[in-house]
Amino acid sequence: MNSLGIIGGGQLGMFICQAAKSLGIKTSIFSENSDFSAKKFCDQYFIGKFSNSEILKSFINSADCFTVETENIPFEMLQKISSVKQIFPDPKIIKICQNRLKEKKFLNSLKNVKTANFFEINSFKDLEKNICHVNNNGILKTSEFGYDGKGQYKIENGKIKSFRNLNLKNFILEELLYYEKEISVIVCRKNKEVKPYPVVENIHKNSILRETIYPANLDSNVSKNATKIAIQIANELDLNGILAVEMFLMKDRSIIINELAPRPHNSGHWTLDYCNVSQFENLINTIFFESPKCPSPSAPCKMVNVIGDDFLNKDEFKKKFKFYDYFKKEVKNSRKMGHYTFKI
Ligand code: ADP
Ligand code: MG
Repeated sequence: MNSLGIIGGGQLGMFICQAAKSLGIKTSIFSENSDFSAKKFCDQYFIGKFSNSEILKSFINSADCFTVETENIPFEMLQKISSVKQIFPDPKIIKICQNRLKEKKFLNSLKNVKTANFFEINSFKDLEKNICHVNNNGILKTSEFGYDGKGQYKIENGKIKSFRNLNLKNFILEELLYYEKEISVIVCRKNKEVKPYPVVENIHKNSILRETIYPANLDSNVSKNATKIAIQIANELDLNGILAVEMFLMKDRSIIINELAPRPHNSGHWTLDYCNVSQFENLINTIFFESPKCPSPSAPCKMVNVIGDDFLNKDEFKKKFKFYDYFKKEVKNSRKMGHYTFKI
């Protein structure tokens, strides 16, 4: 086994390709867009709709095993691949993580694991009925295919009139949480061996990650609890691969799980520069080698996302920080264009 197929070719795919290359693994990418960040870094690529069965066949033949850079992938495609080759993590995990309802039901079925209160919404009537159950303040989210806050609507003081004419099929209404901080934990797991990355603090603006700070400024009890919950979730899923767990730290020090990502995560990009093993290398270790390495950070640091027009300042960033360009063809509002890191 020495080749990896990656579904999706954005910046996460790009970093996976770079890590794979450094560890002697060949990569092929299947991308729905013809310009994609990983293009220059993979050994082979396939461009087309994921529903194109001819391209899918060639893609399946191109590698020994597979992984994903996003959970937003049609399940039928994952099934087709996994009927002949192994996918990391298992498609049953990706299936849970790609649907907010399934994910929340799964999380709440675990002992001592909690999410925000939530309600399934399929019509304006469902919204009318349930808005009082979140104290009239909530977030309405599409259950599937959302990312970076896309497909999300904040509702305050029960103001729902503007949703009357929207097609609200396959939505979820979550209670709006008044948390103290957002934190996350990334874990790698193989054959029951789990290696967690340390807890980091995440700062979001308009529901998009802006900054990650290592280490998170937390009581050690909170850190331990966050790590314990992430490990518990990985164990319950019987994960073979990498998983990011996004969490809210509440004012009473309890932890509420926001969501899961069965892939490398933006809040782990600092590990490229300030850790003995990056989250991308550890994904490769988990898939191809004996076991993931134990992460050991080298310095407190910060990672800052470069979003939309921020990218116009890239020369400044390059001078001052370790800057990563995602090679996106077009600058778009709210699009992650790159990131930089520095010691703090
Ligand atoms: P995405 O898949 O777009 O990352 P998330 O569910 O993580 O979706 O939401 C994006 C961000 O929106 C979160 O990181 C957080 O800042 C905010 N958010 C999401 N859900 C809630 C909630 N129930 N209460 C308060 N803020 C929330
Ligand atoms: Mg999120």
